[in-house]
Amino acid sequence: MNSEKTIKHHIYVLGLSLILLTLFAKYNYDSLDVVEEVSAEVNNIIFENIKYYEDEISGSLPVKNCWNFLEENATLLLNNRNIRSISITDNKKVVCSSINLLNGMELNFTKEETGKIRFFYISKTPYSDSINQKNMEAFLIKISYTPTYSTIIGLYPESLTEVIDDYSEYDVYVNFENVVLYKDKMVGKNNALEGKSLYEVKYNISPYLFFKYVIINHSFVIIFWTLLYLFIVRVKSPIFDKFTISYWDINKAIKRRHFHPYLQPVFDINGTLVGAEVLARWVHPTKGVIPPASFIEEVEANGKIREITQILMQKCSTHLRNVEFTRKGGFHLGFNVCAIQFDSNLLYEDIVLLQKELSSKPILIVLEITERQEFESKLFSSYINKLKDKDIKIALDDFGTGHCSMKYLINSSIDIIKIDRTFVKTISEGPNTHVLDAIINLANATNTEILAEGVENKEQFEYLYANNVMHYQGFYFDEPMPIEEFIGKYLS
Ligand code: C2E
Ligand code: CA
Ligand code: CA
Repeated sequence: MNSEKTIKHHIYVLGLSLILLTLFAKYNYDSLDVVEEVSAEVNNIIFENIKYYEDEISGSLPVKNCWNFLEENATLLLNNRNIRSISITDNKKVVCSSINLLNGMELNFTKEETGKIRFFYISKTPYSDSINQKNMEAFLIKISYTPTYSTIIGLYPESLTEVIDDYSEYDVYVNFENVVLYKDKMVGKNNALEGKSLYEVKYNISPYLFFKYVIINHSFVIIFWTLLYLFIVRVKSPIFDKFTISYWDINKAIKRRHFHPYLQPVFDINGTLVGAEVLARWVHPTKGVIPPASFIEEVEANGKIREITQILMQKCSTHLRNVEFTRKGGFHLGFNVCAIQFDSNLLYEDIVLLQKELSSKPILIVLEITERQEFESKLFSSYINKLKDKDIKIALDDFGTGHCSMKYLINSSIDIIKIDRTFVKTISEGPNTHVLDAIINLANATNTEILAEGVENKEQFEYLYANNVMHYQGFYFDEPMPIEEFIGKYLS
């Protein structure tokens, strides 16, 4: 079915969206984790050096002998691969630097503030570093120890870019005093950082990186879902089919009123037409006429049958209102109803309306009740009584096939018993007619009218005739047909 396919397709897309949404939430959550990790690493790089300064260097200020000082603090310079240089300034003048050239140089910093720490980027240091002559960039940690002294620790920019690069699946960036460090670029900025922080780590969600993350880490979930979907589509799962074909398609068909009454005539023992049974047909625009076997069980279970019965009643009313009933006697119009319809007043209201609309016609409405669902007996009896007050006739359909036909026959005022065709079949196809005979006897004993359904041949008819069965329905007489055709053939 076409729409079945679309529904399945929708379900696949829905599942995929849910997976992506979940992964997106996880990615977001993971990004926050990465922010914390990057933060901790940057913190480490900066404060490890500050701590060293506070613990070791500050004790030897002012610097008397630069060479001794550098030698003493060689551990900091040699052990920490992030450090490019270390310089001590006194009144903005470099008094001791690991880069010899800087000694004596005047720096144009603003006034020192005791205890103030700055961390910033410079694209061009006044000196090249000893390892890479071309590399002029640096991050500087400037610690103002007193209004006079300060220490400037220069860091290789790589020490920070590497931290971000380690998390290639996330778009994490670090906001510094004068630059923002992104994965692949450094952007200058003017706005200050909040509070006294030296840096802030943040993240963006980049669609590209998110999909990369999904593919690298979670593609198996998507593959699994796709395989499951293909499996469900290929292997016709009854649960899936029930859900897909029926619910959406039936809903749509109800809205578009694609259900149509087909009428099968009922005759009396003399071959006179006495009525008809209304049988639902789903007239699908592309699939054609769909028999009730494909949908009735589903709609009876989910309650949609209420709306279908209503459509059938309305269409019968529209067609029969224009018929001139010239023939003698009443005409029984039978509708099939099930237990769920007795749960609300809708059925009653629909019937009363139908009766009103057809009040000028000699039409008697019959309700054919099946036992596919059990009736709540107390409610059922009062509903039946209410209907009987309106001159509605009640027929027990498929008599003998359910589990409690007898109960209803005894407890309620049933007008007609419809002998199920499985019993009629026993006339010509055996094993024996015991049950059929018993049903006929029971009906006679309770003064209930009998209608034999599914009469397919002469032999069956003659047997029933001989047993005083008064009404007949079946292919031997005629098949169900669209109401327009029925009117043309039997009522004109
Ligand atoms: P049912 O009420 O027992 O209706 C009689 C079914 O037997 C109809 O099948 C009819 O076409 C078929 N039939 C009539 N004469 C013969 C015959 O001589 N031989 C054979 N083999 N079959 C014959 P249909 O129209 O397919 O309906 C099937 C069932 O669907 C109905 O059985 C009824 O239980 C249910 N149904 C149909 N319309 C409605 C409806 O509007 N509401 C509810 N609740 N059920 C409906
Ligand atoms: Ca019926
Ligand atoms: Ca029946």
